[in-house]
Amino acid sequence: MTDQYSFDNPATRYPSIEPPEQQQSEPGLEQKLEPTPDLGEHSYRGTGRLEGRKAIVTGADSGIGAAVAIAFAREGADVALSYLPSEEEDARRIIDLARDAGRMALAIPGDISDPTYCRELVAAAVDGFGGLDIVVNNAGKQQYCERLEDLSDEQFDQTLRTNIYSMFWISKAALPHLSPGSTIINSTSVQAYKPSPILLDYATTKAAINAFSKALAQQLAPRGIRVNAVAPGPVWTVLQAAGGRPPDDLPEFGKSTPLGRAGQPAELAPAYVFLASAESSFVVGETLNVNGGMPTP
Ligand code: NAD
Ligand code: MG
Repeated sequence: MTDQYSFDNPATRYPSIEPPEQQQSEPGLEQKLEPTPDLGEHSYRGTGRLEGRKAIVTGADSGIGAAVAIAFAREGADVALSYLPSEEEDARRIIDLARDAGRMALAIPGDISDPTYCRELVAAAVDGFGGLDIVVNNAGKQQYCERLEDLSDEQFDQTLRTNIYSMFWISKAALPHLSPGSTIINSTSVQAYKPSPILLDYATTKAAINAFSKALAQQLAPRGIRVNAVAPGPVWTVLQAAGGRPPDDLPEFGKSTPLGRAGQPAELAPAYVFLASAESSFVVGETLNVNGGMPTP
């Protein structure tokens, strides 16, 4: 593969990985993840599809958000990167890659489960760029728990605050700055339709994100602001190795998709680019499933 436009076999475009059992504490560092995910560092080729746009991407230090930040910068957008302060090491690498593309990259670390930070994030991006056109609500918390009895009130609350409340806080703060042509893109999951028993709180938020996105999309469409969602299937990221799944599930991760392998973050970025660009002008309230072939409603 030379870039994302190469017509190779999608089943074998990336190897069917067998990650070793491993466990980090959340949110984890991608630089310690084995094998290393492909964020498109060496393959994503921009064609000016987001020239001059100004974007916020949450969870932009690693995984899908990092692949999106790299792709947006190479498509010509300035990018404000949100992530947790403990992820600075991962974030630095992505900021350098975005700047290598010749765009502005702003580091705005903080905790999106805190509404004050969500508002500060938007204000800092608007100040830094002099405007805002794209909001990607991508950050997420996923901690598996086998039994309802063991799922703490604190975890349930923190998962909802991080995954769904933050979308409300960030979208609301961003709205006064968004003009017609702007877009909001939210990361949901195949878990919205096929909830795993051990991801009760997480799957609940992902179904909520679909409803939130479709309702807000109808509200904002008349104002020329489009809202859509992307629903990834199994994608190899540190989320899975930092409490997202039992470590002994990792060697089989993604093997049950029709393509027979996990996705790589680089394969998600084009969906976000499409929804952020003007090419998707008639796409509103859609959930774009990027999951290796798992059937969805
Ligand atoms: P990731 O761990 O690389 O990214 C998640 C990011 O969320 C972290 O890097 C972190 O910066 C951010 N985050 C978590 N809690 C936060 C908080 N309180 N404040 C600020 N930031 C916080 O993993 P990923 O797989 O790239 O996840 C990105 C999104 O994709 C998530 O919403 C996840 O639910 C979704 N998703 C992932 C998969 C998958 O298989 N990897 C599948 C479906 C959906
Ligand atoms: Mg991270």
